[in-house]
Amino acid sequence: MKLDCKHVWEHISGYLDHQLDPELLAAIEKHLENCEVCAAVLDSTRNVLVLTADDRTYELPVGYSQRLHQRLRTIIREHPG
Ligand SMILES: [Zn+2]
Repeated sequence: MKLDCKHVWEHISGYLDHQLDPELLAAIEKHLENCEVCAAVLDSTRNVLVLTADDRTYELPVGYSQRLHQRLRTIIREHPG
């Protein structure tokens, strides 16, 4: 199974919640080993989720996905290709 970055991002919350099926999980982990962009995205996403967990709420903050998308765009700009 070959994933591109967009597919990894779609599944990133499932990845963090350990809700992916093993085949998809393996494909994503393989992609992350070779993709600096997705590794950075995963780190950013994990930071947001940790902060959220520290506040003892498991709902994503308002504006979460806009901020994430913005961050993704910045990361992509900084890592052309
Ligand atoms: Zn990637």
